This record gives sequence, structure tokens and C-alpha cells, in this order.
Amino acid sequence: MADQQGPEHEVPAGRWQIGDVTISRIVELQAVGGLGFILPMATEEVVAPIEWMKPHFMTDDGELIASIHALVIDTPSKTIVVDTCVGNDKTRGIPNWNDRQGPFLDDLATAGYDRTSVDTVVCTHLHVDHVGWNTMLVDGEWVPTFPNARYLMGRTEFEFWDAEEEDRLNAGVMDDSVRPVVEAGLVDLVASDHVICDEVRLVPTPGHTKGHVSVEISSGGDRAVITGDAFHHPVQIQNADWASAVDFDQGASTATRQSMLEAYGDTDVLVIGTHFATPSAGRIRSGDDGHWLDVGV
Ligand SMILES: [Zn+2]
Repeated sequence: MADQQGPEHEVPAGRWQIGDVTISRIVELQAVGGLGFILPMATEEVVAPIEWMKPHFMTDDGELIASIHALVIDTPSKTIVVDTCVGNDKTRGIPNWNDRQGPFLDDLATAGYDRTSVDTVVCTHLHVDHVGWNTMLVDGEWVPTFPNARYLMGRTEFEFWDAEEEDRLNAGVMDDSVRPVVEAGLVDLVASDHVICDEVRLVPTPGHTKGHVSVEISSGGDRAVITGDAFHHPVQIQNADWASAVDFDQGASTATRQSMLEAYGDTDVLVIGTHFATPSAGRIRSGDDGHWLDVGV
């Protein structure tokens, strides 16, 4: 999760083609600053000299920019929404996450996806900013936003949160955004390496949470990966040992980041960051200062 406190700003749509698969980004909010709690080592003095992060991921002054968005993976056989942001009408402790009244569903429809057309929802993990639009408020009840979808959740992840109701970071989230879809019979608990369809599969990337997964897409010789919160911000591509303060197991999250850099670095794999600000995707390259993200613009 990202701690979004700064001013929101307008962002353009994002869309990528991976062989026969189209991936579309639906932004709920982007903000400057507010990552100090998540990445306390990324002070403005330390990060301001990292030139490749400007202007997309950081201001000239070293303020980090972050995003909360969903990604729609449109394959020949499936319409998959990966992560469902913060949601509307939810009671939350962070001011611009609380009681939101955002146009997310309109933006989803504008991108070509009415909520009833979605057949699969994937939650990379069950934090507050990844499950919000699992449900929507109708006549005082939380009902599934995607009534025709199977909601895929990692079994390890679900069972952890199912037993951890009191977690400070996730207070109320299970009750308003997870249990209603379970009770509607729409949830499939799956293995962390579950294969969704020919082009899309989950890969285990534990550490941020116990059962965290990322999503790999492969079609026609093209490949992409959706990071989830294995990386909160591109600055962790250069500093893989900068674990997030909210990582469940910082040693494991660092090991996961290092293995992802090994797997995707200096390849053609398009890396799409779940909290990376516009343009939100690029290719990992290595240089004298270690790894960096080449967004091609
Ligand atoms: Zn997150």
C-alpha cells in the first residue's frame, strides 16, 4: 500500500499491447509526496540526485510521486481486473482514502469495460488499497462490484488476514471489501502460482505480505509483469534493500525484489508497477549505479 497524503493531479490513460493481450490502466488517484511513512530511507536529500526518476517518479526537489490504479488484462478469453484500489464510500484512516466519491467505475467503462463484463478479479494481496472496489455500497449494503467475476485470492494471503482481524493497517477491510464477496460465493482461493489462462499466471512474490503475488503476462513473444507491492516505488529498483515499513517480512521482500531484478533485468519484459506514477511501466536496465527503470520517454 502507499500512504497518499499529497495533492492529487490529473493523469492520462495508459494502455499497453502484449501480443494478443491489451493491458489498460484505470487510475484512481496519483499524488506527490506522502511516501515518507512507507519508505522512510528515501529522504529528499538521498533521492534527489537520482536523475532517471525525474520527472515521472520524482519532482526536481526529490518528492516521490505515486499512483493507485487498477490494471485490466484483456485476453482472447478473459477480462481480468488486477487490484481494485481504495474504493468509494469506505471509512478509512487516511484523509483522501476516506469516504471517496471518485469516478473509477465511469473511467473503467470509458476504457471499454463495463463492470458486468469483467469475468476475473485478482488481488495481488489483501491490503486496503488493493481490494476497495471489490465491493460497492448499494442501499447500505456492500455488494460485489463485479457480479459476473470470479475473485481470485491467494489461499496463503486470505488465511493470514482471515486470522488477523485486528491488524492496524487493514482495520475493517476484510469486513467491507473481502467477506462480502466470499459470502456471495464469488471467491476462489488459489495457489500463489495459479495459471489463469494461456497468457496470464500468478507468480509468488512474498514479503510485502505473507501471500503476495505478482502477475505475469505472455503472448506472441511479448512479456510483461505486474509487480503488485513487491515494489512500491521505482526507487526500490535501484535500492532493492529498501524494504517498505509496512512489509510483513523485510528480509523476504528484499529477496523477492532481488530475484525479480534478476529475472526481468536487461530483458524485454515490460514491468508495470502497481503504484508507479505515469507512465507506470518500463524496462529494468542495469548500469554503473545498479538497476534503473527505462520508461523510453
Ligand atoms: Zn499498495
